[in-house]
Amino acid sequence: MASIPDFNQALYAPLAETDPEVQNIIDKETWRQFSGLELIASENLTSRATMEANGSILTNKYSEGLPGARYYGGNEWIDELEVLCQKRALQAFHLDPTKWGVNVQPYSGSTANFAALTALLQPQDRLMGLGLPDGGHLTHGYYTAKKKMTASSIYFQSLPYGIDSSTHLVDYEKLAAQAKIFKPQLLICGASAYPRDWDYAALRKIADEHGAFVMADIAHTSGLIAAGELADPFQYCDVVTTTTHKTLRGPRAGLIFFRKDTDKAKDLEKRVNDAVFPACQGGPHNNTIAGIATALLQACQPTWKAYAKQVIINAQTLGKELVAHGYKLQTQGTDNHLVLWDLRPLGLTGSKLEKLCDLVGITINKNAVSGDASAQVPGGIRLGTSALTSRNMLEADIKVVADFLHRAVQLALVLQKEAGSKLLKDFVRVATFEDEGREGARLVRELRTEVRAFARRWPVPGVDVTTLKRPAGIEEDD
Ligand SMILES: *Cc1c(COP(=O)(O)O)cnc(C)c1O
Repeated sequence: MASIPDFNQALYAPLAETDPEVQNIIDKETWRQFSGLELIASENLTSRATMEANGSILTNKYSEGLPGARYYGGNEWIDELEVLCQKRALQAFHLDPTKWGVNVQPYSGSTANFAALTALLQPQDRLMGLGLPDGGHLTHGYYTAKKKMTASSIYFQSLPYGIDSSTHLVDYEKLAAQAKIFKPQLLICGASAYPRDWDYAALRKIADEHGAFVMADIAHTSGLIAAGELADPFQYCDVVTTTTHKTLRGPRAGLIFFRKDTDKAKDLEKRVNDAVFPACQGGPHNNTIAGIATALLQACQPTWKAYAKQVIINAQTLGKELVAHGYKLQTQGTDNHLVLWDLRPLGLTGSKLEKLCDLVGITINKNAVSGDASAQVPGGIRLGTSALTSRNMLEADIKVVADFLHRAVQLALVLQKEAGSKLLKDFVRVATFEDEGREGARLVRELRTEVRAFARRWPVPGVDVTTLKRPAGIEEDD
């Protein structure tokens, strides 16, 4: 083989050699994922196989267009890959290819949604989505009094619908009344922080009164829907979008499913495909499409249903344990993978608990709960069980996790008292080790040690945890 010129030497060296700085960051993040408890409801742990596909040589190839109709040559294997991915996507959601099609090219959930809106609407057309503070997503038309925050409100007129203030369930009656006035051309359902299932038939009925499309964004729940553990949106919707990296457990990407068999949907295939490329995107990420295909293969196996069932059982177990400790959950439980924990009765903000949990190695996120006075200071926490279930945890293990969370809350209350103010920065000061010697800081350290020891009992897909060593740059004195 010819010798390698100097300017190309870097192409052949492994990451650790060529870029130890980035390698070290990856090592530190690996250590964090191994040592902590991941309870962020939108996260999951993808498989080793998906990561192999995602890190493959397919990243080199340009393939604008669709299988069989590309703008570049050399796409024979990429065509085979994309067709396989499409086939598996339909199979995973039990769809008849004569009735449904799918575009597997969206880079992520938000871009999938914007492409779907581009396909379904003209600029300044009207859409309705679940309001952000009620659990909806930014891309469903979110705006504030001061600002149109997202493309979905910049380029379209949007109106949020909401949840009932006492049941905390989507208020379909009020939605119907709002729709009578607003006359949307598109009704979006799906959410990022809604622990209950959807009544797709009710949404279809409301949409039909106005000749509107119904789009379900199942980003959070698609893995559970593929497993048949939640209601089936495909029965009633024209378009279904999803991310592939949440409960579906694939690489970071999006999918857009479109109906082909109704009058209303007769040109949706072309509209969706044209919206993805060339309207919103350029070349597909073929390495990612390979990862999606691999993840979908897993979602087509009988074991997938068992995983999805366990995710839900774990979320329900987590909910029950928290309720047993006297805490309040929005809707008092869950149908899916997440619970919304209302901290307001305790006089504690979501930000403080999130911060404390971060310090002890439990990753959670602050979240608005219904009736929050300020969106800036959310009064709740969102918890999800997809990732812990991917680390093999079952009900008994989730009870241990619930107990850690209970201790974290009790500790947060002690720290808040020690802080002597309600400010987050004072809270952080007493929770960290600047004030060594205080009871609060000692208890934080104790909890952190226990969480770590527990978390490190579980494997992490794609990582050989038996040989894993603490990387440079991570201090552990306990
Ligand atoms: C996460 C999410 C998205 C956005 O997905 P990204 O991949 O982060 O762009 C869209 N819709 C819903 C409902 C989501 O939960």
